[in-house]
Amino acid sequence: MTSAAKFLLLTAVFGLLAACRKEPQTNQGHSISGSTMGTYFRVTLSEFPNGIPEDTLQTTLQARLDRIDDLMSTYKPDSEVSLFNRSDSTDWFPVSTETATVVIAALEVFEASNGAFDITVGPLVELWGFGSQESTNQLPAPAEIQELLATLGSHQLHARLDPPALKKDHAELRIDLSAIAKGYAVDSLAASLEELGIPDYLVDIGGEMRAGGQKADHTPWKIAIETPTAKQRGIQATLPLHDMAIATSGDYRNYFERDGQRYSHEIDPRTGQPIRHSLVSVSILDTSCMQADAWATALIVLGPEEGRALAEQAELPAFLIIREGSDFRQIETSAFIPHLP
Ligand code: FAD
Repeated sequence: MTSAAKFLLLTAVFGLLAACRKEPQTNQGHSISGSTMGTYFRVTLSEFPNGIPEDTLQTTLQARLDRIDDLMSTYKPDSEVSLFNRSDSTDWFPVSTETATVVIAALEVFEASNGAFDITVGPLVELWGFGSQESTNQLPAPAEIQELLATLGSHQLHARLDPPALKKDHAELRIDLSAIAKGYAVDSLAASLEELGIPDYLVDIGGEMRAGGQKADHTPWKIAIETPTAKQRGIQATLPLHDMAIATSGDYRNYFERDGQRYSHEIDPRTGQPIRHSLVSVSILDTSCMQADAWATALIVLGPEEGRALAEQAELPAFLIIREGSDFRQIETSAFIPHLP
């Protein structure tokens, strides 16, 4: 399944879900939207800024997203990341500051999550039929998984900012920024808006969100965390979002079933297998959407006990949803509780 076919993990509660590029002013504000990275983006502003034509703003935001896509996509053969992946060299490979920044953050979360978050997992994602290659609809053979596992691991990847470059210990190592780059793009759009003197906004890229300031009616932006069911939409919780980002990872939209078994796109790099436990959704709050995005994947890979324990230890504001039969139970970490309404 491509991500274009996926639904939203997080939805804005006030219902700005139309897919048109520009929408008329609503009582919540102005909305600019479009497509990026195999999904949608939507920017809602409390007030449209004086002196900036709407078309100019749309073009500026789309150009920012197009640049990140051109640099970091594994769906584009000529992106910076794809060129690095195809390179045979094990010398430093010059990249943009943006790509180096994201890879450095990914390596930090790799360390802090004991390897659960690992951007070298891409070949396994492809092997299981997710990612940019067409799925073969075959379950991979255990020997194939073991063979790939032996070559993967972010401990074989290096990144620096001065000058920005990446380095791999062996030529076959590849990176996949799918679990972190959308968050980076959210932060980047928020920074663009603030540079333009726009303090009140809600940025949403494929369900990863960041809110600045407040709504037109001077109340906080509010977001909803979805109940993790593939077939019907429901709301598990709503919360105000004030100068903060939220990102969600789940196993309930992007998966396939074979012989009654669910296979998710979230891959455990320790086993090479899609995750198989009762933790079905993780939402993380952070001032950085990039961090929230990466940590949401890290915790869902770690599972209900280990994920929760690490979130508590690292004082991460995390909202976990656990499947219990046909019901769901939610757990908020201690750092999340102050953010509840
Ligand atoms: P998240 O939980 O945020 O990430 C899950 C993804 O991370 C998995 O699908 C896998 O790729 C990877 N992953 C799995 N396990 C791990 C792990 N243990 N550690 C680290 N990563 C892991 N999709 C398209 O269909 N067409 C496109 O043209 C396209 N272009 C893209 C361009 C860019 C720059 C990016 C970042 C993504 C693009 N995507 C595209 C992918 C798409 O939008 C993804 O489905 C999305 O990024 C995954 O986000 P998520 O919120 O569903 O899941």
